Amino acid sequence: MKKFDVIIAGGGLAGLATAAQLVEKNKNLNVLVYEANQIGDGASGVPSGMVNPATGQRARMIWNAEACFRMLEKRVEQLSALSDTNIRLQKGVLRPAIDEDLAENFRLSLKDTRWPKGWVEWLKPDEIKERIPYLKDCSGALFISKGKTVRTPEYLQAYVRYLKESGVTFLFGGPYTIENEGEWTLKSRKNAYSAPKLVIATGFKARENKYWSELPLNAVKGQLAVYHSPEHIGSLPAISAYGYIAPIDDHTLAVGSTYEHHYHDENPDAQGAGLLDQKLRELLPELYPHCQRIGQWSGIRATTPDRLPIVGEHYAQKGLYVYAGLGSKGLLYSELVASHLAIHITEKKDLPFEISLYRFSRMEELREKAREANEP
Ligand SMILES: Cc1cc2nc3c(=O)[nH]c(=O)nc-3n(C[C@H](O)[C@H](O)[C@H](O)COP(=O)(O)OP(=O)(O)OC[C@H]3O[C@@H](n4cnc5c(N)ncnc54)[C@H](O)[C@@H]3O)c2cc1C
Repeated sequence: MKKFDVIIAGGGLAGLATAAQLVEKNKNLNVLVYEANQIGDGASGVPSGMVNPATGQRARMIWNAEACFRMLEKRVEQLSALSDTNIRLQKGVLRPAIDEDLAENFRLSLKDTRWPKGWVEWLKPDEIKERIPYLKDCSGALFISKGKTVRTPEYLQAYVRYLKESGVTFLFGGPYTIENEGEWTLKSRKNAYSAPKLVIATGFKARENKYWSELPLNAVKGQLAVYHSPEHIGSLPAISAYGYIAPIDDHTLAVGSTYEHHYHDENPDAQGAGLLDQKLRELLPELYPHCQRIGQWSGIRATTPDRLPIVGEHYAQKGLYVYAGLGSKGLLYSELVASHLAIHITEKKDLPFEISLYRFSRMEELREKAREANEP
């Protein structure tokens, strides 16, 4: 049986960032990433990911925005050096006030939020027209100059290359079982791997793990469509209103997304394509007639009731951890949360309450029960 210090199940943003943070904190750690399918098979395979700290219709600043940005930027820079293609498009994120409700919300966000200096500005209609002539008329826009777009598939590819160079082992595919045999053992048909620590980072599938069936996670399907534009759209920032547009290159853009809480299967469908066409037509009415839909993609987000990630050690199973719930903010949250988890695993330091499993009363209840059962 091959032995590791930590096994990570799941090779999405959560799993890869955890592997990186672990080996960067202790280069002697022997880490295995076990991916059931392929890297980017889950939600992390999104063709283009927006990095937007002004979240939701109220444009609220996300949890620990500055630290999240700092860590993501460092990682993007490092991985860019390992990639042949341009991983990051640094053109900001525009949040157009396309109706009065959004305009009011965005003005309040500017007034009441302590945005770091230089992150956010208000653009007037004529300034917007000048920057994005084909955008729907609006009464102004919040422009997040700090925002960017990341080509996630290339980011993941470079990430795997970096982790392999750092000594992390990758294994792919095949059915397996996980058992607690003193150490955590992952058994595939032919081989077995064991480690004292096991991290479940399998996105929305985390709840399918028998130890994590009580995890407060919702699965929300999202569809996205990719369009070719014969017009040069090189200066287009990412746009986020009710839905979003994320440029991929000078002639390609991604339009997202649907939020499907009830769905029959995980694949893209015609209804999704229709909705995404409509979003593009609404947001960029003058560009839309020239665009051609050239692809469609879907993924399942894992979200928690308060929209923050969820991490921590199991209430009864020592050495078993979970990292899930990245929702729609996988890029921004993944590194900072992984860093906290790596410190928690290696140094037993407490996790911030806001992302801990035990901020949810059901999880705390289960922990109490497990403690009582273990009392002599
Ligand atoms: C339509 C859409 C648009 C999005 N847009 C953005 C965006 O603009 N910006 C942004 O930051 N985020 C975006 N996201 C969200 C982001 O992609 C997710 O938050 C993030 O990718 C989740 O990462 P994860 O590693 O937790 O899960 P996943 O990416 O789902 O990774 C889980 C991995 O585990 C593997 N797996 C499953 N079961 C097992 C098992 N039993 N054993 C081993 N491996 C297993 C899967 O194959 C998968 O590779 C979007 C998501 C969707 C669906």
